Amino acid sequence: MTGRKNRKKEIILFTDLDGTLLDHEDYSFAGAAPALERLRGEGVPLVFTTSKTRKEIEALREVLGFRDPFISENGGGVFFPGEYGPWIPGGESLPPHVLVRFGKPYGEIRRFLTALPPSFGIRGFGDMAAEEIARFTGLPPDQAKLAAERDFTEPFLLENDAVLPELLARADREGLQIVRGGRFHHLVGKGQDKGRAVLFVAEVFGKKNGTRPVTIGVGDSPNDFPMLEAVDVPVLIPHPDGRHDALRLPGLILAPLPGSRGWNAAVEALLDRRDFSGKRI
Ligand SMILES: [Mg+2]
Repeated sequence: MTGRKNRKKEIILFTDLDGTLLDHEDYSFAGAAPALERLRGEGVPLVFTTSKTRKEIEALREVLGFRDPFISENGGGVFFPGEYGPWIPGGESLPPHVLVRFGKPYGEIRRFLTALPPSFGIRGFGDMAAEEIARFTGLPPDQAKLAAERDFTEPFLLENDAVLPELLARADREGLQIVRGGRFHHLVGKGQDKGRAVLFVAEVFGKKNGTRPVTIGVGDSPNDFPMLEAVDVPVLIPHPDGRHDALRLPGLILAPLPGSRGWNAAVEALLDRRDFSGKRI
């Protein structure tokens, strides 16, 4: 038990979900089972850091058996279990969680999109029925419904990428920004990204445990870059074609395989390692 306690203080693992812990095509985490089992056994906090919604993450936490804080909608919200409350002044009680908001309200994000001329050719989740979200994402219909229950951000498809520069300019004037995930663009508030949320969580763990933990971050796409820049040990997962996104970062570890199998290989190698000044696994 002593080892487990110490381990808890040592490491936090922040992970993206789609295309990282979950396989791009079918959202399977089967390839990550051995590493997930070790994390549970060693009591290492696993903080889901994703563009998914609170409802989607809650469902996955239940299935995977983790009870740690989580970061929803690209850093729009950070949800801590209630017992973290004393270390989060200003946190908003939302039982069973304490919420810290970095994103803008979803209604504000939607107002921007619906005010755009139709010539922009944008379709957001708010314009789609659950069946359509299921078709574009490949999610089962019940999970697509959870993806539609949004708090801070809007994933969207563009008919024509040529409108992107004008869209970026308009968003910028309204205090919004656009980030790129694995399947969609995401319209999000300017003050939020995965990196800011990760630093906040690490700080809370530091206060709660008395020492700042070593932070590991695992992601695959540009919306993960702020997270990878914010952690001590960044890990980049390749896309299904084996290609890693272009990211130059000191000490960046390139996982050898896409999705859950690459995640498993990288996390197991890090759990085996005593010092974290690694390069390539
Ligand atoms: Mg991803």
